[in-house]
Amino acid sequence: MNSNFTIPTPGNEAALNYLPGSFERAALKAELKKQSEQQIVIPLIIDGKEVFTENRIPVVMPHNYRHLLATCCLAGKTELDAAKEAAIEAKSAWESLAWEHRAAIFQQAACLISGKYRFQLNAATMLNQSKTAYQAEIDAPCEIADFLRYNLFFADQIYRQQPLSVGETWNRMVYRPLEGFVLAVSPFNFTAIAGNLATAPAIMGNTVVWKPASTALLSNYYLMRCLMEAGLPAGVINFVPSKSTDISKYVIRDPRLAGFHFTGSTQVFRQVWREIGENIENYHAYPRLVGETGGKDYLVAHASCDIPALVSALVRGAFEFQGQKCSALSRAFLPQSIWPQVKQLLLAATAKLQYGDPADFTHLLAAVIDEQAFKKNVSYIEAAKASPEAEVLCGGYDGSKGWFIAPTIIQAYQKDYVSMREEIFGPILTVYIYEDEKLDEILAYCDTSTPYALTGAIFARDRAVIAQMEKQLMHSAGNFYINDKPTGAVVGQQPFGGARASGTNDKAGSALNLYRWTSVCSIKENFAPTAQIDYPYMAEK
Ligand code: NAD
Repeated sequence: MNSNFTIPTPGNEAALNYLPGSFERAALKAELKKQSEQQIVIPLIIDGKEVFTENRIPVVMPHNYRHLLATCCLAGKTELDAAKEAAIEAKSAWESLAWEHRAAIFQQAACLISGKYRFQLNAATMLNQSKTAYQAEIDAPCEIADFLRYNLFFADQIYRQQPLSVGETWNRMVYRPLEGFVLAVSPFNFTAIAGNLATAPAIMGNTVVWKPASTALLSNYYLMRCLMEAGLPAGVINFVPSKSTDISKYVIRDPRLAGFHFTGSTQVFRQVWREIGENIENYHAYPRLVGETGGKDYLVAHASCDIPALVSALVRGAFEFQGQKCSALSRAFLPQSIWPQVKQLLLAATAKLQYGDPADFTHLLAAVIDEQAFKKNVSYIEAAKASPEAEVLCGGYDGSKGWFIAPTIIQAYQKDYVSMREEIFGPILTVYIYEDEKLDEILAYCDTSTPYALTGAIFARDRAVIAQMEKQLMHSAGNFYINDKPTGAVVGQQPFGGARASGTNDKAGSALNLYRWTSVCSIKENFAPTAQIDYPYMAEK
């Protein structure tokens, strides 16, 4: 009250190292043991209350799919209706709560996430989403805390943007939240993305119905509990695991749907966009559609590049978190002149990668998320084995206990071979070897050969070539990397998102995303209103 408060300047939450003998390693191992030995029931959280339903699904470890971590209640029509009503009911008090108090709740949540509940969130992400300790650490808790702290900072900057006022008037802009509720639908692959999808609209004063992915329920539930403990008022975010068909039937078509905040596949986003389009006459306002979707992320190398750095980018970019980062490298164009050396180093580095249960810290990879993902990956490996247009240089799979795909490299002999074009979402890298003098042609092909434009990387040391590659590939990626792997965007440093079929490119973790959750009202106040009707030019003399 009576003050212009300043949001604390954010910094990126530092990832812990989990070195042998460290406190954090012992704490994480203890939490892994605890969560592995219990089976909890995950309720819905509607209007701040836990709701238990009879319809439940198992929550398992992808790397040991017979191990039950939890069962999760599913919302049906009754609960989804209740969640929408709770969001609408909570809206007025939430949007009129003083900004500094709204912000304080999310600062408090960031503190709980990176402190008291750090190991709980990390362990749940490791066990249920099959991430290694380091991959889980940089996702949940670090990236969620970053999303919250940076979004508060950016929201504050947005609120400070005001128009000019001339003469005896005062112009103001009020950054109203949207009218209605926002539906957040999150993917399995990042606990942080789920957190951002639900909280970014809430930071801007909206209320939210949040449907998490059915394969990331444990971490998402613990995250929801952190938000509640931080003081998020009842009904502001409603946690409703449910079948996607029920979301279509009971939520997407609701006239009060004000926005759809989504990350996931291109196919699902297009389907929801179509459903909203078909129903457009019935909404109170045009729903804001924000989607970050699929990709076919690339790397193009030039003969002048640093070869060991290129090999590191190929391995880390393609295989960390089993290639299930939306930014994961999945196709590479490499010049013929350096291929023999790159091939030798690449195969040697890949052969050393250990994969298995992420609770064993020596592993760099764990399992893909579920049986459907496993089968999809296997189908591309088997197709490459059978095709004269490709060769499997290394890799394989074993689904007997967990959904394990070994780091796999396919060499394509045709640049339009299927695994050079389609999103697989697993640890499969396809390489195509081009004749050095055909760089122009390869860049043009890389730009146009898939519908996506999410991430891309180039490797070269020749500055003229770097400039040429950047120019020719300018529209091929929303996140573009020079001499670096195409993964690992950091909130506040490389705002993330792609264009074309990869999404609406509203850049998660930046002001650009937050603008989508506000509907501005421009107010003009006149301190000297005129009584005149005629204008001076109308006089005869
Ligand atoms: P998905 O599209 O299968 O599922 C995402 C969410 O949508 C889940 O919660 C799912 O239950 C829900 N869903 C599915 N069908 C629906 C429907 N008809 N109506 C409403 N909701 C529905 O994606 P996924 O397997 O969880 O994630 C992998 C995909 O996400 C990949 O394509 C990846 O590229 C993409 N992704 C993109 C980004 C990005 O920033 N561009 C980030 C992460 C993941």
